[in-house]
Amino acid sequence: MGQDDAVRQLAFLTAASAAASRKGGRLETVLHRVRRAFAKGRAACAYLAAGDVRGAAGALADGILRTVFCASPGPEGEPCGECASCRMQSIRLHPDLHILSPEKKSRVISVDAAREKLVTPLSASSFAGGWKAGLVEFADCLNESSSNALLKTLEEPPPRTMFLLLSDRPENLLATITSRCQRIDAGRAGSSLTDGEKEAVLSALAAPGRDGVLARAAAAAAMEAVFAQLEERAADETAEEAKRLSGEGGIDMDKDAAAALASARFRGYRRDAAILAEAWFRDIAAVKCAGPDAPLAFPQYRDEYARRAAAMDAARCFANVEAMEALSESLARNVPQAAALAAAFANVATGGGGRAE
Ligand SMILES: [Zn+2]
Repeated sequence: MGQDDAVRQLAFLTAASAAASRKGGRLETVLHRVRRAFAKGRAACAYLAAGDVRGAAGALADGILRTVFCASPGPEGEPCGECASCRMQSIRLHPDLHILSPEKKSRVISVDAAREKLVTPLSASSFAGGWKAGLVEFADCLNESSSNALLKTLEEPPPRTMFLLLSDRPENLLATITSRCQRIDAGRAGSSLTDGEKEAVLSALAAPGRDGVLARAAAAAAMEAVFAQLEERAADETAEEAKRLSGEGGIDMDKDAAAALASARFRGYRRDAAILAEAWFRDIAAVKCAGPDAPLAFPQYRDEYARRAAAMDAARCFANVEAMEALSESLARNVPQAAALAAAFANVATGGGGRAE
């Protein structure tokens, strides 16, 4: 490899690390753009959010839906977070939200399900008198007939109705559907965390222990330990890459570029871990409000959720979700991690040990 190639490689790496470091804030940027369009009455009637349905794409959809349903959004479309609609939407229980997901075993969205859960309720008038929304999770599981049923509605959407399709395999959707949707990118195809790391996040939150100051501190410390593990993986991967570059290309990765790349990588992993923590507390709130059969991000924790929900009132459950949202926002803004965690978990009731605060 000549000197020019080496210079080009380094320029590429530096650009890649800059792009990756923006990624942490990318979700917020996309969300801000859609919210502003909505506030100006220029939002699309259907969005296809590409990304992890139980992670970034789901979080993006939730952020958009809160704007759609909020009774008094700000000038940039930011939801107030306090009205009844915001509260209900924070756990996806707004009466004008209609959710369509694949049936568990078949992983297919049947035409009957599409009609019953989405097309028919959306053609009726709104419960709250405002907007209605249809959320299709794992939209790549639509088959030809359910796609066609949805397509008819997309072609002539009922007034004041927004459609959000989520998929981590958007290329598997029929072109007739995707052409009706504005595509938004939730960052990457899937969560960046390994199954073991996801489990580590959830175990940190599920750790037993009586509720109170010590339990909250323990939860914050457990999360910090998971973050440390993610930081280590980001550093290892970057070192691996540097080694490959120097072996194959005979060039040394610039130290600053390598550090920036490792740090950007880590922030992406950490963001996905924080999204999982939000989903955990959202699940508890869902069980609290909708009972044991509520749709959950992590159904394997249903019994644990029920125990914790029993130890808290609904307001506490919502406050927990808000604390985790605040954590994600602080981390995206690069607030020092220990401070962000301490602040977030100081405002959380873990519900562990079955005793209320
Ligand atoms: Zn609101």
